[in-house]
Amino acid sequence: MTLEYTNAEDLPEIVADLRKTFSKNLTKPIAYRKQQLKQLYSLIEENEELIFDAVAKDFRKPRTEAWIGETALLKADIIEFFNKLDEWTKPQIVETSIAYKFNKCYIAKEPIGTVLIIGTWNYPVLLALAPFVGAVAAGCTAICKPSEVATHSAKLLGELFPKYLDHNAYRIVQAGPEGTVKLLEQKFDHIFYTGSTVVGKKIMEAAVKNLTPVTLELGGKSPAIVANDANILLAAKRIIWGKIYNCGQTCIAPDYIICEKSVQTALLESIPKVLEEFLGDDIKQSKDYARIVNHRHFDRLQKMLLSSKGKLSIGGDSDRNDFYIAPTVLADVPKDDSLMQEEIFGPILPIVVVDSIDEAIEFVNNREIPLALYPFTSSKKLAKHILDNTQSGGACVNDCILHFAIPTLPFGGKGNSGMGNYHGKKSFDTFTHERSTLETPYYVERLLGSRYPPYTNSKVWF
Ligand code: NAD
Repeated sequence: MTLEYTNAEDLPEIVADLRKTFSKNLTKPIAYRKQQLKQLYSLIEENEELIFDAVAKDFRKPRTEAWIGETALLKADIIEFFNKLDEWTKPQIVETSIAYKFNKCYIAKEPIGTVLIIGTWNYPVLLALAPFVGAVAAGCTAICKPSEVATHSAKLLGELFPKYLDHNAYRIVQAGPEGTVKLLEQKFDHIFYTGSTVVGKKIMEAAVKNLTPVTLELGGKSPAIVANDANILLAAKRIIWGKIYNCGQTCIAPDYIICEKSVQTALLESIPKVLEEFLGDDIKQSKDYARIVNHRHFDRLQKMLLSSKGKLSIGGDSDRNDFYIAPTVLADVPKDDSLMQEEIFGPILPIVVVDSIDEAIEFVNNREIPLALYPFTSSKKLAKHILDNTQSGGACVNDCILHFAIPTLPFGGKGNSGMGNYHGKKSFDTFTHERSTLETPYYVERLLGSRYPPYTNSKVWF
C-alpha cells in the first residue's frame, strides 16, 4: 500500500491555520481540552480493531502486543490526563520574601503554542499519540506526523483524526523524510521527535533556525548486565521477553547481554527453554511473534549478523520473503564486533563476556549513554553499585522495558539517547510554558516606592 503524502505546498497554510486557532485562545479553555481528550479516547476505543488490524498489516504485530503496546497505555494516559487536568493547570502560587508580602507571585501554566510531533514506526499509534495527548492537555494546537514506514497505521490515523478531533486545531500530516524536512522549515513552538539518533540530530539542526525547543526520544544500545548471583532462569525470561516483544524493534529492548563466562553458559542453557515456552517449537508459525518491518531493516540486520564474529548459539534462521528473523543469540561476541556498533533494533542478542561486573561497567561507560540499562542481580548492593557507576535514560533492576509503562516515571534518554522526557505529568509539562507572573497592587506603592531614584540614604536599607 502506498501512503498519500500531504502536499508540501500546503504546509505553510496548515501551520498558519493552527497558529490562528491558537492565537484566538480556542484550545485554551479546560472544558475544550477535556472534550478533545474525550474525543481522542473515543477515537482509540471505537477503532481499536482497526488499529490492531493496521499494525498487523504493517509488520504482523501480535494482537496482544498491539493492545498493550499501542492502545491500552494510551487510554490509561488519557483518563489520567482528564482527571488531573484541573489540578495541573492551576497557577502555582510561590512563596516570596516579606518585602513582597502584598504582591501575588505565581507560575501560570500556559500552552506552549503550535507544536510538531514526529512519530516512528515501531509503535506507530502509541508513539504518535502519546505525546499528542500531552499537547492537547496542555492546550496547544498540533501537527502529528506519523512514520511513513508503518503505512497502514499512518493512513488510519490520517482518516480518523478529522472524524474525531477539531480540524482547526489538530492535523495529521503525512510525509516521508523529504516532506518532513519541508515541514521542519515551518516555525513551531516545540518539536517532539521520536526516532533514530542520526535523524534526531537533523531535527535539532532544523529547530535551531527558529530557536524551537525540542524533545528528542532517540535510541541506543541498552545493556543487560547479568551478575553471577542473578536468578538466571528469570533473567533469561525477562531479557528474552524484552528482546522478542515487537520482534526486538523496541527502543528500550535489551540490546546485548554482558556477563561473566559462567553466566553466559547458564544463560545459553536457559534461553532455548524460555523460547520454547513463549513461542513453541516452530517459532515461524507462532502468532505471537512479529516480523521485521521492511526489507531495508531485514537486510540491515542480516548484514550485521553475517559479519559478526560471535558464536551463533541459538536461532539464526530467516526468511526474507516473510520478513522473518528467528530470535538469535550469539555468544562470545567480541567487544568491537559488527553487532556492537549500532543499536540492533531486531531479535538478535549478542552476549559479551567480561571477567567482572566492574569490567562490564567500564565497557558500558566507554560507549554512548544508553536509553535504558538493566542490571540483573540478587544483591541490592550490587544493583546500586551498577546504577551508581553508570548512566542511562532509565533503568530496571531485574527486569526490562516495564519502566516505560509507569506514567509517574518520566521517560526519556540522556546524551545520544535523547533529550527531555515525557509520560504522565511530564507530557503536560513538555507542552506547557511556565510563565512566572508577579502582580503588584497600587496600594503597595509606599512599601515598594523606595526602589526609585534618587537613591538617597533614607531609602537604602543595607
Ligand atoms: P523512522 O524511519 O520511522 O523515522 C522516524 C521519523 O523520522 C519518521 O516520522 C520519519 O518520517 C522521520 N524522518 C526520517 N528521516 C528523516 C529525515 N532525514 N529528516 C527528517 N525526518 C526524518 O524510524 P527510525 O528512525 O528507523 O526509528 C528507529 C529508531 O527510533 C531507533 O533508534 C529506536 O531506538 C528509536 N526509538 C526511540 C523511541 C524512544 O521513545 N526513545 C521509541 C521508538 C523508537
